Amino acid sequence: MTTDLETRLVEAALAVRGQAYARYSRFAVGAALAAVDGQIFTGVNVENASYGLTICAERSAVFAAVAAGCRKFTLLALASDGGVTPCGACRQVLAEFCDDLPIVLVDALGHQPQQRVQLAQLLPGRFSF
Ligand SMILES: [Zn+2]
Repeated sequence: MTTDLETRLVEAALAVRGQAYARYSRFAVGAALAAVDGQIFTGVNVENASYGLTICAERSAVFAAVAAGCRKFTLLALASDGGVTPCGACRQVLAEFCDDLPIVLVDALGHQPQQRVQLAQLLPGRFSF
């Protein structure tokens, strides 16, 4: 069942994806993260000529949320061509703030159905300090 929050997050992820700075890979990603207080934080991938400095959309959204004082999240929507899952680095960053988190994967091209996965499923062996 699709909730109102999920619908809003998917729309936000698809919309913000247009702001991605993906001049090298041409693989634009948009993320929308819901905080427990209902705020929505968005992020896009921002690439760099020095590839290692590139940051993913999910981490952009998490860092924006943390800067705004939010550290607890309820849902993440991720929009990309094909509806890919978060990379390993982003999984670990999300796990810093969430033991588990539902993630909605959206194919911006509309070829794949929307999928829902769980962070704990994607990163069972997370590092914790
Ligand atoms: Zn990533």
